[in-house]
Amino acid sequence: MAVTSVLPETAADALTGRRIVTEVPGPKSLALHERRLAAVPVGVSSTLPVYIARAHGAVIEDVDGNRFLDLGAGIGVTTIGHTDDAVVAAAKAQLGDFLHTLFTITPYESYVRVAELVAERTPGSFAKKTVLVNSGAEAVENGVKIARKATGRRGVAVLEHGYHGRTSLTMAMNYKAMPYGAGFGPFPGDVHHAPSSYPFRDGLSGEEAAARTIGYLEKHVGAEDLAILVVEPIQGEGGFQTPADGFLPALQRWANANGVVIAADEIQSGMGRTGAWFASEHFGFEPDLVFFAKGIAGGLPLAGVTGRAEIMDAAQPGGLGGTFGGNPVAAAAAIAVFEQIEQQDLLAAGRSIEARLRPALEALAAEFDVIGDVRGRGAMIAIELVEPGTRATTKTPNAAAVRRIADFAAQQGVLVLTAGTWANVIRFLPSLVITDEQLDDAVAVLREAIAAL
Ligand SMILES: *Cc1c(COP(=O)(O)O)cnc(C)c1O
Repeated sequence: MAVTSVLPETAADALTGRRIVTEVPGPKSLALHERRLAAVPVGVSSTLPVYIARAHGAVIEDVDGNRFLDLGAGIGVTTIGHTDDAVVAAAKAQLGDFLHTLFTITPYESYVRVAELVAERTPGSFAKKTVLVNSGAEAVENGVKIARKATGRRGVAVLEHGYHGRTSLTMAMNYKAMPYGAGFGPFPGDVHHAPSSYPFRDGLSGEEAAARTIGYLEKHVGAEDLAILVVEPIQGEGGFQTPADGFLPALQRWANANGVVIAADEIQSGMGRTGAWFASEHFGFEPDLVFFAKGIAGGLPLAGVTGRAEIMDAAQPGGLGGTFGGNPVAAAAAIAVFEQIEQQDLLAAGRSIEARLRPALEALAAEFDVIGDVRGRGAMIAIELVEPGTRATTKTPNAAAVRRIADFAAQQGVLVLTAGTWANVIRFLPSLVITDEQLDDAVAVLREAIAAL
């Protein structure tokens, strides 16, 4: 029988666990990679150049038939699993009705429904409004625009180790120049990088860290010139730094008292990722604005800003929007994502993942002193690696170990993502539908990888 595809009949068939049948990358991936190198600039790099044929739940399969346990979920995008049946059905149904009208020409209900759903589930019981856009960076840009218009001020403040995107303004908001900003300047001005809370390295309480952040902003900027303070409740790219208790509420009190708009960039941490709808909830943090993207539409591009109605309404008619913002297919998928998180009880699943993964990683930390710290919430957990023998002293970052562990895991069929200002963090962002067996299997591979260092 002539076989043109390695794929079985149905998308969900048999994608239950890892399976390596060739070298990684395999011959078909290598051939595709040759074509890609000729056609795609090197600035667009890939963590693991295996070319994907299909995916379901927490498993992806490449063109050579290798299957990987996906602990990255496309950087926290397929939070409710790859090709969730309800999301696929909702998108397919919308495909047959209409693909585009442009909400700012002739609107449609699904945009409004997404706005209602996000407003109901973000922290704060005040009246909220929502604008939908295409990407996380675009959401951040819009949040800054809106805050500047609402306050009549210019200054933008962010925290050290933060990441906010790859557009001109958001490049200026990132902590790490390499690779996100290096050579791409000049950057917009009036962006200020204030100290953050990084308990593993600064040893400060939330109040102490907040006093340091506020002191910096008052000294270097002045509240009266500051339009917006943007914080990630758990820092994504930076390495899942989880602030000490009290840090975010103290920043909020200061911002509220000084007329500064405070925004949570929940692009990575939101939409059920941490076992709560939005990670701000874990910290008693009620931001004025919330930025969301990644997980909201199950893999389709959708992002936005939701926030206090009076702030959101500061922008004049026509001042917000964009051709594809709130695309009908993406909006239909997003509504299904909200429904599935509730129907499948995925917030509880996020908490169960933490309850299983954190002790397993802590046990590894007890066994191997290259693990300096285990942190995060829900299905957003990381380990920070240090040079052997430095955990209690200098905590010297160990990027080489991270690279070797990620490579080893990939060869065994487990895809893990790295992160961190010093590239010394392994972050786990599995889909909330990952099974206990899959999670245990991944941890076993991780243990082998660390033992092999
Ligand atoms: C991914 C990310 C962004 C940027 O989103 P894009 O959709 O890639 O533009 C911004 N902030 C955080 C916290 C992110 O994780």
